[in-house]
Amino acid sequence: MSAATIDAHPRTAVTNRATLTADLGAVAANTRTIAAHAPGSALMAVVKADGFGHGAADVARTALAAGATRLGVTSVDEALDLRSAGVGAPILSWLNPADADFAAAVAAGIDLAVPSRAHLDAVAAAGSATAPGGPAAGAGPARVHLHLDTGLARDGAPPAEWARLCSAARLAEQRGLIRVDGVMGHLACADVPSDGSNATGRTRFAWGVEVARSLGLRPPHRHLAATAATLTDPRTHHTLVRVGAGLFGIDPSRTVRLRPALTLTAPVVTVRRVRAGTPVGYGHAWTAPETTHLGLLPLGYADGLPRAASGRAEVLVRGRRRPLVGLLSMDQAVVDLGDDEVAPGEIATVFGPGDDGEPTAADWAGWAGTIEHEIVTGIGPRVTRERVAAPAVLRRVR
Ligand SMILES: *Cc1c(COP(=O)(O)O)cnc(C)c1O
Repeated sequence: MSAATIDAHPRTAVTNRATLTADLGAVAANTRTIAAHAPGSALMAVVKADGFGHGAADVARTALAAGATRLGVTSVDEALDLRSAGVGAPILSWLNPADADFAAAVAAGIDLAVPSRAHLDAVAAAGSATAPGGPAAGAGPARVHLHLDTGLARDGAPPAEWARLCSAARLAEQRGLIRVDGVMGHLACADVPSDGSNATGRTRFAWGVEVARSLGLRPPHRHLAATAATLTDPRTHHTLVRVGAGLFGIDPSRTVRLRPALTLTAPVVTVRRVRAGTPVGYGHAWTAPETTHLGLLPLGYADGLPRAASGRAEVLVRGRRRPLVGLLSMDQAVVDLGDDEVAPGEIATVFGPGDDGEPTAADWAGWAGTIEHEIVTGIGPRVTRERVAAPAVLRRVR
């Protein structure tokens, strides 16, 4: 036990709520920038995982107003949530078990990706149930996008099953149960444009489209590119590009300047003065080399600060970068404020667009050995969400 704390009662702040602010002005600007890179193609805004942590419905409305014409999500539940929020644009849902509630999806006008015969049969059955005159009359045939595995071995039909899937889809289309609206693929290594697997993926996709045509399908939408391919390779654009990360300022190919849209702030909850030699936090992983002030932030790995960033991460307080010291805990982090008389209640910026010298999500990803996507999607439910329409997020939260 160390008795090196000088203040008997550390000074404390009145609030301990951290705030995550999504800058919808940045999302709009990024949407326009990306649309300009694929002028001949329609733009699908991918708003899965609550819009990459930025708020799915708000991001959807913003992207639609800025040039996107469709939305993409993983599960039917995510799509239905958007409908419940009043979003009426076309939505494609691409990751579901074959026994998902496709009837509810079709009734809500959700387009469905079909990666297998089992999915096709289930979606066709949902299409018949909701066909005009059917039990849930009105929605008509289910609109599907046949999904070909173009190289991830993750989702999508393997090439060996593709022709049979296309034939069965054509039959279901002729029976009025479905309408094949699209063919889709996905690239494994688009963030590295020179990677040879990109050419393989493009070739396989072109083959898949040709097989579909030869079997009588005429899908108006053909889509392969996500953010990185959209920004680097027009040969992947086809009729539609599916863009998620880029909307939020993340360019996996690091070729285009986009604007980060998320800012995470937290009040300094308490400040204490400690003597040189005071060990701090679990495992005493850090010891104060000299007398200093330590601020406590009400954020930890349960709130999305990766513990792997311990010992490297910094935050901005009073216009200066300051190190987080010791191991990041589940609920709290300690910032070394040095000699500055920072008061409880002053705001620390954990990450933001970087305009004022604060760390970015990319910095955090580097400190933790991960990618920005994991940082922005990982912020936990204890953090208050705010949205601003104007670009000046930091001005507002300060
Ligand atoms: C997430 C996802 C996208 C969007 O990818 P980004 O790189 O974030 O633009 C596109 N397609 C599929 C199938 C996805 O899962």
